[in-house]
Amino acid sequence: MDAKRLTERSDADLDISLLRRTVRGDVVVPGDVAYDQARKVWNGMIDRHPAAVVYCAGADDVVAAVKFARSRTLLVAVRAGGHNIGGAAVCDDGIVIDLSRMKQIEVDPIKRIARAQAGLNLGEFDAATQAHGLATTMGVNADTGIAGLTLGGGFGKLGRKHGLSCDNLVSADLVTADGRVLRASATEHPDLFWGIRGGGGNFGIVTTFEYQLFPVGPVLLAGSILYPYDRARDAMRFYHGFARTAPDALSLDAALATTPTGERVFGISACYVGAIEEGERILRPLRAFGAPIQDQIAPRSYLDIQSAGDAMFPRGRRYYWKAQFLRELPDAAIDTLLAAYATAPAESLLVLQQVGGAIARVPVDATPYANRDALYDCFPVAIWDDPAEDMMRTRWARETWDAMRAFSTGGVYANNLGDEGMERTEAAYGENYARLLALKNKYDPTNFFRLNQNIKPAPQGRRHAGSAAGTAPRGQRATSNAASG
Ligand SMILES: Cc1cc2nc3c(=O)[nH]c(=O)nc-3n(C[C@H](O)[C@H](O)[C@H](O)COP(=O)(O)OP(=O)(O)OC[C@H]3O[C@@H](n4cnc5c(N)ncnc54)[C@H](O)[C@@H]3O)c2cc1C
Repeated sequence: MDAKRLTERSDADLDISLLRRTVRGDVVVPGDVAYDQARKVWNGMIDRHPAAVVYCAGADDVVAAVKFARSRTLLVAVRAGGHNIGGAAVCDDGIVIDLSRMKQIEVDPIKRIARAQAGLNLGEFDAATQAHGLATTMGVNADTGIAGLTLGGGFGKLGRKHGLSCDNLVSADLVTADGRVLRASATEHPDLFWGIRGGGGNFGIVTTFEYQLFPVGPVLLAGSILYPYDRARDAMRFYHGFARTAPDALSLDAALATTPTGERVFGISACYVGAIEEGERILRPLRAFGAPIQDQIAPRSYLDIQSAGDAMFPRGRRYYWKAQFLRELPDAAIDTLLAAYATAPAESLLVLQQVGGAIARVPVDATPYANRDALYDCFPVAIWDDPAEDMMRTRWARETWDAMRAFSTGGVYANNLGDEGMERTEAAYGENYARLLALKNKYDPTNFFRLNQNIKPAPQGRRHAGSAAGTAPRGQRATSNAASG
């Protein structure tokens, strides 16, 4: 650790007792027994040392932490589920404002509304809403935070039928960069409400989300069907034809993967969001195609479906991915994916997460989430444990992404971005970027919230190079690493 950083940290230390007196929640600092756990995020590649982690007990703590950081020009990271692939939820030297202990949820089964605090993960949210036979779109890994997922868009098994998580947001309470508590909804601060439905953590820290819910399940027809690698090409062609004409109620994610016994396969994960008998009929052509080596499609509880992939993504392993949207999957793209997967290191995945349906019918300018015409989010996923393999693993994923670039729409899902630079952030927001920039200038002109898919305030024009407007906070040094580029 260099001398400058030590000084910065001890400066911050001087104020920690004040911070501890100001908030109700725990404050963890270097030297505390809990510190090494507190600085971890989901991706084991991320190894950063914040000056303090504030486990907020409520919105008042968030206000206090924001004001504390602001008064001392500290860099701020905001953490809910900690799943951002590039580790944006933790920083060096600055302060982590952690929401993970704010887990209250109230479900109104009559109005079909859930009021959920930002620290809930998807599994907790789904369990509370399913107790009433209700749900709204959430992602496919129970451990992901509802907050980051919703603020960047949010797709999952219900997305094609009910839209993105952010499309089902009714209101949000948030703390702005100047410490104000605002409610954003269609009628209260509607500009802000527009911005947080895809614009990520750029405008404030959301403490509570209010979602529209829908009757779902509790049992749906879902599961995976696997094809051997030597028949993957035909299966992928069939998959694309089936997926592009699928009804909204059918979600079809797919992946090139390797089984625990080391066999390479192409797998399709189907979920029909409707009556079981209807699902049996709709899925018949898929189940009749080819000679799968495994067909596990069966009636399952929605909660089991939502956590089916959890074992593949435990906290603490090393992960890298790089995503882009596709509108089509021509034969040349299939061949490119197969060639890339043939050289994939062990445990890698090549994912096609299906979007479209109701997501595509929301006007592009209705929310910041711009890539509504995409059919798949395509991303290579590298998973490993040995730091000595970092270069090799990330190189495979980056080369695969490069090879698939020719088939991409050019767009990217903000929630699958690491620290890939401003051009990629613009690619996530497309024509909505200019409006986001105006909103950023209004609500966060000093770029207080900068560890995110960052909209850099730039009054002179969107292609402002160099550091953001305002004073660079302490701790504003490299926060990226191989996991994020
Ligand atoms: C295993 C895995 C599976 C995934 N599956 C899906 C999926 O099926 N569908 C999908 O859409 N996405 C999926 N994602 C991507 C996921 O949406 C993003 O990683 C998202 O950022 C996770 O939210 P989080 O709260 O866990 O993240 P965090 O890392 O805690 O936060 C990420 C960023 O979000 C912002 N943020 C978080 N909380 C707040 C808040 N309360 N107020 C303001 N800003 C905040 C901050 O900028 C923060 O840096 C998956 C990710 C992983 C790792």
